[in-house]
Amino acid sequence: MQTLRKKILKKLSSEPNLVKKIKIDPRDFAKHVFDRTKLQKYLSEKTFYQMQQSIEKQIPISSIIADQIAAAMKSWAISNGATHFTHWFQPLTGATAEKHDSFFDLDNYGNQLEKFEGEQLVQQIPDFPNFSNSGIRNTFEARGYSTWDPSSPAFLYETTLCIPTTFVSYTGVALDYKSPLLKSLEKLDEAATEVCRFFDKNISKVTATMGWEQEFFLVDRALAQTRPDLMLTGRTLMGHMPSKGQQFSDHYFGSIPSRVSICLNELEFECRLLGIPIKTKHNEVAPSQYEIASVFEAANIAVDHNALLMDLMDKVAYKHNFIVLLHEKPFHHINGSGKHTNWSLNTNTDINLLSPSKTPMGNLQFLSFFVNSIAAVLKHEALLRASSVSASNDLRLGQNDAPTAILSIFIGKHLTQVLEDLENVSKGKLSPKEKTDLKLNVIGKIPEILLDNTDSDRTSPFAFTGNKFEYRSVGSKSNSAKAITVLNAIVTEQLLDFKKGVDNLVDTKNMKKDDAIFNILREIIIEIKDFLLEDYEGKKKVNASEKTNKRDMKLTPESLLAYLDKSSVDLFENLKVFSSVELHARCQVDMQSYISEIQIESRTLGDMSLNHIIPTAIKYQNILIKNVKGIKEIFGGKFKSHANDQLIILEEISDHIKKIINGVDQMVLARKNANKIEDVNKKAMAYARKVIPYLDEIRNHCDKLELTIDDSIWPLAKYRELLFIR
Ligand code: ADP
Ligand code: MG
Repeated sequence: MQTLRKKILKKLSSEPNLVKKIKIDPRDFAKHVFDRTKLQKYLSEKTFYQMQQSIEKQIPISSIIADQIAAAMKSWAISNGATHFTHWFQPLTGATAEKHDSFFDLDNYGNQLEKFEGEQLVQQIPDFPNFSNSGIRNTFEARGYSTWDPSSPAFLYETTLCIPTTFVSYTGVALDYKSPLLKSLEKLDEAATEVCRFFDKNISKVTATMGWEQEFFLVDRALAQTRPDLMLTGRTLMGHMPSKGQQFSDHYFGSIPSRVSICLNELEFECRLLGIPIKTKHNEVAPSQYEIASVFEAANIAVDHNALLMDLMDKVAYKHNFIVLLHEKPFHHINGSGKHTNWSLNTNTDINLLSPSKTPMGNLQFLSFFVNSIAAVLKHEALLRASSVSASNDLRLGQNDAPTAILSIFIGKHLTQVLEDLENVSKGKLSPKEKTDLKLNVIGKIPEILLDNTDSDRTSPFAFTGNKFEYRSVGSKSNSAKAITVLNAIVTEQLLDFKKGVDNLVDTKNMKKDDAIFNILREIIIEIKDFLLEDYEGKKKVNASEKTNKRDMKLTPESLLAYLDKSSVDLFENLKVFSSVELHARCQVDMQSYISEIQIESRTLGDMSLNHIIPTAIKYQNILIKNVKGIKEIFGGKFKSHANDQLIILEEISDHIKKIINGVDQMVLARKNANKIEDVNKKAMAYARKVIPYLDEIRNHCDKLELTIDDSIWPLAKYRELLFIR
């Protein structure tokens, strides 16, 4: 009987059934978003103004105004085909959550009406099951409530009005990614604005900006369905490397294949309607790997848009018989996927604070933000890293194609020189000549566009790319709010220190502001300069880990503990971004997710080995046995010289079968032992150290069998089919 795999391959080899390409109309941008321009049309001038003031100052919107906004949202949504509404939020599970309520209601006389009022807009108590894997709510709370985030616009998704919200427990413990992000943005705004005011009194607000580059694989859905590992874990737990991989980079430069192109076109169309600003889409390095990049936006909006995109991708891919693999390392030996997270700071006067300027004063402002950001990253390196680790990202980080597990910062030749010059300024008050010289010849000479920082080493995890920092370790399937929240918080702390230092010199040493800034910058540069290293291209890079490599940085359970370091707890508690309780809770959630991920992989691999691989191996052995028996019948006593190779293969297969069964037994035992451990951190460590090694060992034997066994009976889609058929 033909395997499912062979049937699917036969079908795929016939004429492709291409869907017609959708025409994208630029005027459709944000058609399904109830943005402020649309809202303004529904509200009186006064109400609209009051609402904007509330959002700007982050004070609660009054219930009267909320009612009016709700009414406006309802009419807009219903006139655009909505039948339901939902509070849309980003719980710690990593996905997005929604609970759809109908607008449908009855009045006192039993007449049908459509109901949606301020109350329902502002708050909901979703009685969902647990939203984190670890029972954070069981441990800390019974229930939580979702609260409208008026800074992110509502949108229409299919026939549902989605209202972006935060999700917090009754006692105020954040159960989502958005609440701490919003807090960190607010604190960063305050601290950065204060520093800006050294340079420009017109600055009254600083917004963190974010642009993401989302990598992913697209794989034929039917083929993927032959693989329990892809369906259950999002990655292949076995599979032999294809003879052709990514050696030629021909995929990277090639044109996007038609079926993929039509699918991505529809995705772009849907993104357009939802106001997700997609800028580029292209092939990535690995076969069947692609990237979609966004135009940068205010960080909280960018986070929402990325979360929405990941959801949308799944739905659109389904229509085109693809599945999207957002996993960081779906294929062994093939490049993994990341989500490069670009971050910068923008003022209300529309100045990018991480972009060199035309004037010496502007450049001193730029340098202040630049140097302080680096100092923050160096100080909290372990914490920043903790914000991007996961079981799946562990498989990618530190591989040839991805950022190393060790954090280092590239800043380019030009800026290195500037920092060296600044390091040598005199301590205390500067002579007028020195100051003029500094302004004219050092900071005055920073080019507006830094050309030497085109960072060719793509494996640098944290790079300065001319007008922004690019954090590359973030995993493709993770919620980028995690990394951005940490980045915001550590830079805030550093800016507060910087401000305090400068103020102190001005107040107690009677220094001019410029002198004080130069002095403090010099001090910071001296602290970070020890980590200026020459890399293989003769460029300088700041290497954090030389100093802070306290623990083995390789494993997620260990990295995550950085959340609980005293420096991290102090940081977050001082800024009121996380309480200590919340930090512990989050760390537990991440540990538990780690455990669950490895546990599911291990079970799936066990099942596949016993239910798919071994029966197939035995089937092939039987074919060989029949063959050998036949040979014996013909050649009698001399049969061995004719059946020697078959006999060797038979033995090899038996050997692999034995080792697989033994490996699975041992792995189950390792899991059982790990499960007995109460302490979640230690349990995660046990999974890392005792269970993971079996995943590799068992896989090795399965992969060898894949090479030996008759292709026509192999049940699982092979790498070459998953990666090259589209
Ligand atoms: P590069 O050519 O260096 O890759 P791009 O302009 O193509 O830079 O941008 C790469 C990514 O960086 C995009 O996702 C973009 O949105 C983001 N980005 C660009 N400028 C900023 C900024 N000021 N703040 C945040 N992200 C930014
Ligand atoms: Mg990229």
